[in-house]
Amino acid sequence: MNKRFLMDLHTHTLASGHAYNSMNEMIQQASKIGLPLLGISDHGPAMPGSTNRYYFQNMNILNHEKFGVRLLFGAELNIVDYQGTIDLEDRDIRDLDYCIASLHHVCLTPGSKKENTYACLKAMDRPKVMVLGHPDDGHFPLDYPELVRHAKEAHVLIELNNTSFNPRGFRLNARENDREILQLCMQFQVPILLGSDAHREEDIACFARAEKLLDELDFPKELIVNTSLDKLEPYLPR
Ligand SMILES: [Zn+2]
Ligand SMILES: [Zn+2]
Repeated sequence: MNKRFLMDLHTHTLASGHAYNSMNEMIQQASKIGLPLLGISDHGPAMPGSTNRYYFQNMNILNHEKFGVRLLFGAELNIVDYQGTIDLEDRDIRDLDYCIASLHHVCLTPGSKKENTYACLKAMDRPKVMVLGHPDDGHFPLDYPELVRHAKEAHVLIELNNTSFNPRGFRLNARENDREILQLCMQFQVPILLGSDAHREEDIACFARAEKLLDELDFPKELIVNTSLDKLEPYLPR
């Protein structure tokens, strides 16, 4: 693991239905690689095979530290319509530390660029939404200048998702799209959050593919939230 990165807030456990490790195994792995901060972000209930709303409601019984790792409990919410509706209610996410909001084609049929963009802007305005997840999938055309400007205004982080660059992955033109997004983030001084999107313990805090693109663009370290716990603090929802 690259020691410059102190956190990974996009990870999935067995509860997501298509991930392969328990929460304990994920935390133990984070401990083993010396990761100071791990976030658990299982898929919301609109994802086929994922867990139910009570899983998220009940997360307030969990300790925020285990095996020497600081923990945050969140959700990867599904944006389920072009109005930016998400698949958990306020009550369900009330006690979560943060949420990621993402477009997944199994939960929403891609619309026009205008529709997709509007859905993301509205989702970013929701309380608890701290991150817009992988906005780089070309199946969902998005107005990136508008998205990045809104991220700044709404105080929401744009994710750079390492799994988007998986050669066996299904996200379309992620590299080209992320290049455009990152250039806009530099232009408007909008910070990003690296996420592994790990669906197995071995992938926790694996950011190598994303890092390659960051290096290519000479992306400033100051705009990468993962490099400092202090940088994350102002983004955490209250
Ligand atoms: Zn996702
Ligand atoms: Zn995910």
